[in-house]
Amino acid sequence: MSGHLDGHRAGLERRSRFDRSDDVVVMKFGGTSVEDAAAIGRVIGIVRSRNGSQPVVVVSALAGVTDQLQEAGTAAAKGHLGSALATVRGIYVRHEGLADSLVGDSAYGALDRELRGEFRELESLLLDLAAAGRLDPKSQDHLLGFGECFSSRLVKEALCRAGIDAEHVDARTCIVTDARHGQASAVWDVTEQRLQETVSPLLERGQVPVLGGFIASTCDGVPTTLGRGGSDFTAAIVGAALCASRVEIWTDVDGIMTTDPKLCSDARVIRRLSFDEAAELAHCGAKVLHPATLAPAMRQNIPVYVLNSRRPEGQGTEIVGRVKTGNAVIAITAKRKVAAVEIESAQGVNSELLQAVYAVFDRHSCPVDAMTTSLGRISLLVGSTAALPAITAELRGVAEVSWDVRWENHKALVCLVGENIRRQPELASRVFASVSDMDACVVCQDASDRAISFLVEESKVEELVRRLHGIFFPRREPVRDWGGLSSAYCQAG
Ligand code: ADP
Ligand code: ASP
Ligand code: MG
Repeated sequence: MSGHLDGHRAGLERRSRFDRSDDVVVMKFGGTSVEDAAAIGRVIGIVRSRNGSQPVVVVSALAGVTDQLQEAGTAAAKGHLGSALATVRGIYVRHEGLADSLVGDSAYGALDRELRGEFRELESLLLDLAAAGRLDPKSQDHLLGFGECFSSRLVKEALCRAGIDAEHVDARTCIVTDARHGQASAVWDVTEQRLQETVSPLLERGQVPVLGGFIASTCDGVPTTLGRGGSDFTAAIVGAALCASRVEIWTDVDGIMTTDPKLCSDARVIRRLSFDEAAELAHCGAKVLHPATLAPAMRQNIPVYVLNSRRPEGQGTEIVGRVKTGNAVIAITAKRKVAAVEIESAQGVNSELLQAVYAVFDRHSCPVDAMTTSLGRISLLVGSTAALPAITAELRGVAEVSWDVRWENHKALVCLVGENIRRQPELASRVFASVSDMDACVVCQDASDRAISFLVEESKVEELVRRLHGIFFPRREPVRDWGGLSSAYCQAG
C-alpha cells in the first residue's frame, strides 16, 4: 500500500468523528463461502449474528469464477471466441440460478437487469480481446473484476431478502489505486476519504454495506485489481479506513494452520499469531491470507480473525500485535509453480546491472521471490513464466550486455517459518539431515530471520511438507521441543 504519510495524517484528523468504532466489524467472505445457495445462507446467518455491531461485508467472486474469467480471456485472445462466450454463459447461468433461489420476486427483476447489463459488457470485452489477439494486464483487470461485481450484487440482494437492510457499494468507486495492473496498491489518502464518505453514512443509517473485494480503479476510473486473493486486502483497507474494531476473514478452513491441510492432514489450527508472523506466513505462500492484508491492520492495530464459514462456532485464529508462542517453528508453507531463472553475462555482474535486470522484471509485473548473484551469474526465483520470453527479449537491450537467460519450471518453495529461525543452527542441521535425500536446496529468500526456504521439484512438495510437519508438529504429542505443541495450537477438526 502506498505510504502517503501526509495524506494519512490528514486522514487521521478528518477521522475525529470516526474515532475507533467499537462496533464496526469488516467481514470478508471468500469464494467458497459464497459458492452456492447453502453457503450464502450461512453468510446471512453469520452477518445476522453480528446483531448489535455494524457489519461491513466484503465478498469474493463465487468459487472458481475468477479462474473461469481468466480462461475465457485467454481463449478469446487466442481466437477461440466460441469457447470463451460459452464459459461466460455458464457463469451467467450460475448467477441467475442463485438469484432465482435467493432473491425475492420484487428485487429479482432489477437484479436480473443489472446482471444482464454487466454480462453484455463482459461479452463485448471478450469480442475486443478476440479482435486484439492479446490479453494485456489492463484488460485482464477489467475482465477478472466482473466476478466480484456479480457476487456483491447477488449477496446484497440475498441479505435484503433475509430482512437485513443491506446496501451495495461499488468498490471501484472507493478503492483508488495506482495503475500497476494485476497487483495494484491503494492510494491511501484518497481511498480512506472515499470509503468514509461512501460507507460511513450507510453505517450511520444502520445499513449493512456490501462491497466486492479485489476490485478497485485508478483515479481516472480505469479498473484495477489488488492481485489474486486480494479480497482479504480489501477487507483490511476498509477496516483501516473505517477504524473497525476487527476484521474477520471467513474462509473454508478452521483458521491459519501449521501447514496447508490440503497437503498434510495432520495440520492443526494456530490459535494466535502476531501481525509479523502472519505476514511472514502469507508472504511465504500460506494462501489463506493475501500477503498485503496485514499492513493496514497492523498500522492501526486492528485485530484480524481467520474463521471457518462452515463452522462459525469455531474460535479460528486471532492475529494481534504481540504474541509469544514460544515455538521455534510456527508453520510450514509451500509456494508452487515457481520457476528458477539463471541469467548469465560474460561481462560479469555489478550492482548497476543488477538493478537494471530487476527493473526489467518489475516492468513486466513479474515479482522476484529470491535473487542471488555470483561471478557473472544472477539466479532468480519467480512465480510465473508467462512474462519470461518478453523479459528475455528486453534484457538483450540492457546496457549492451549479452545475456544468456535460461529457466526451469515446476519448482516449489517450501518454507519453515518461525521467529529467529535462521539463528538456530541446531534446528537447521536437524532439518538438513532429515531431507538430505530429497534433492532440496536451501534458498536465501529475504532479509528476514523468520524463514528457511527449500527449493524442490513440485512433485516432491507434499512429501517434504509432511516430513517437516512430522518433525516439528509430531502427532498428538504434547512436546515443546523443536516447536512442538504448545498452548498456541489446537488439533484440527
Ligand atoms: P478464500 O476463497 O476463502 O479466500 P483461499 O482458497 O484463498 O480461500 O484460502 C484458503 C485455503 O488456503 C485453504 O483451503 C487451504 O487449502 C489454503 N492454505 C494454505 N496454507 C494454509 C495454512 N497455513 N492454513 C490454512 N489454510 C491454508
Ligand atoms: N476472486 C479473486 C481471486 O480468486 C479475489 C479473491 O478471491 O480474493 O483471486
Ligand atoms: Mg483467498
